Amino acid sequence: MSGTHGTPKTASGDTGQDRERGAALGAVTRTARSLIPEAGVITDHARLRTYECDGLAHYKVTPGLVVIPETGEQLAKVIRACAEHRLPFVARGSGTGLSGGALPRADGVLVVTSRLRAIREVRHEDQRAVVEPGVINLDVTKAATPGGYYYAPDPSSQQICSIGGNVAENSGGAHCLKYGFTTNHVVGAELVTPDGDVVQLGAVAPDAPGYDLLGTVVGSEGTLGIVTSVTVKLVRLPEEVRTLLVGFETTDQAGGATSAIIAAGIVPAAIEMMDALAIEAAEAAVHCNYPAGAGAVLVIELDGAAVEVAGEFTEVERLCNEHGAFELRVARDPVDRALIWKGRKSAFAAVGRISPDYIVQDGVIPRTALPEVLKAIADLSTESGVRVANVFHAGDGNLHPLVLFDDAIEGAGEAAEKVSGAILDLCIGHGGSITGEHGVGIDKAAYMPRMYTDDDLDTMQLVRCAFDPAGISNPGKVFPTPRLCGEVPGRHKGAHRLQEAGLAEVF
Ligand SMILES: Cc1cc2nc3c(=O)[nH]c(=O)nc-3n(C[C@H](O)[C@H](O)[C@H](O)COP(=O)(O)OP(=O)(O)OC[C@H]3O[C@@H](n4cnc5c(N)ncnc54)[C@H](O)[C@@H]3O)c2cc1C
Repeated sequence: MSGTHGTPKTASGDTGQDRERGAALGAVTRTARSLIPEAGVITDHARLRTYECDGLAHYKVTPGLVVIPETGEQLAKVIRACAEHRLPFVARGSGTGLSGGALPRADGVLVVTSRLRAIREVRHEDQRAVVEPGVINLDVTKAATPGGYYYAPDPSSQQICSIGGNVAENSGGAHCLKYGFTTNHVVGAELVTPDGDVVQLGAVAPDAPGYDLLGTVVGSEGTLGIVTSVTVKLVRLPEEVRTLLVGFETTDQAGGATSAIIAAGIVPAAIEMMDALAIEAAEAAVHCNYPAGAGAVLVIELDGAAVEVAGEFTEVERLCNEHGAFELRVARDPVDRALIWKGRKSAFAAVGRISPDYIVQDGVIPRTALPEVLKAIADLSTESGVRVANVFHAGDGNLHPLVLFDDAIEGAGEAAEKVSGAILDLCIGHGGSITGEHGVGIDKAAYMPRMYTDDDLDTMQLVRCAFDPAGISNPGKVFPTPRLCGEVPGRHKGAHRLQEAGLAEVF
């Protein structure tokens, strides 16, 4: 297919179902074209391919149609058309997701929010901002800072990821240890439901009665509809910030210092850990000048009232020394501070300097299990010969093992996948979770039954079906397939009890 005026077709063969989906795609394309300027409706195959993956680039699907609305109203009408034709749709913000959540459907519509970038209001007086979903995370802080405020959740991708994506993934970041994840900072949202209705979630005043539907939507990975406006909390800029870079010989020592700091009742704004391999990668990429010969570094940030930070600093310094720190540096100025953070925040991409391919894993463990789990990961690495670099939010036990491999070597990808999966099993085995902040997406859907029973998953599916009975909003993500509600049937032979109750359907 060529040219922007072609009629989209489904990727697969010429079956009756394909023809139906092709006709549905054609109808939605016509609706989109009647609403949105030409550049915002993409059907040209070469341009469609630009959207074939998110940050998890080893899954690729060329979308059937890409729509880039300029207003929430246009977006809602496109979704209504999808609902009329039972056509699947997938929301996409900036496409930085690492679990394949924004992976498109060949037989569906990819709805991109990159033109919904208005910051509608910044209200310092009640510490709120109202933004469109395509607004870049860091731009909220830039808009709020002149008035003395900022937006606290800070994924390392904050220069490019969108607030809508953050809401869908309940994203975290280095400073979420003290300030909480996205869910703690979203107080309202406008949602286009999978049938195209526009609903407001949350309330102006706190603690509204009834079920927490806003809380349900945050972290739902685009499976309950598309968020078209978000009201976030703004946090007062601290009087003092002190950033420390601490070198240890081993990750055990660094883990011990982390636990001791928290046990002492100190909640730093951030405690991040990198091991020797992650440091090597960061040095090669951004020359961050971390302590030479360190087996692990901690980046610790203290913030708050100056007098409080001074007291905490003395205690943190003492605890780090007690746990074997051989070097402790304090950032002298904002430039120095930025360089310390650059090493940490560029770590994922930096690993490309020491390995042609890698998997960014994301799991959570109780913080106290850090030494044991890091040791088990090291053992896995030795046994399998697959190198693993560790960089993570040590304060809240959110691990990001980077599993290195060279796809050009036969079997290397499979070996890396195996180690990566075994790391998730370790997390579950230690009372943790298969994802801390990157979401389940398509990548980890198969792992959900390792954490949840069938009844748990059915209950979640009931919630999903309440929002999306036709199963058209980001189908195939989060839930292991085959399951109900629009996904291919399989596990349940005959009618499932949710079907019998008229609460879910299979097609
Ligand atoms: C280098 C790098 C570092 C990263 N660091 C972090 C980190 O520190 N912490 C962290 O949590 N994540 C991190 N991530 C992952 C990623 O940036 C986050 O998940 C981010 O929130 C995704 O935002 P996005 O706009 O790119 O969303 P996308 O990738 O476009 O979409 C992500 C999911 O959100 C859904 N979605 C998007 N917009 C909407 C909407 N308006 N309504 C409903 N659903 C929607 C999509 O369908 C998809 O399921 C990192 C990624 C990279 C590449």
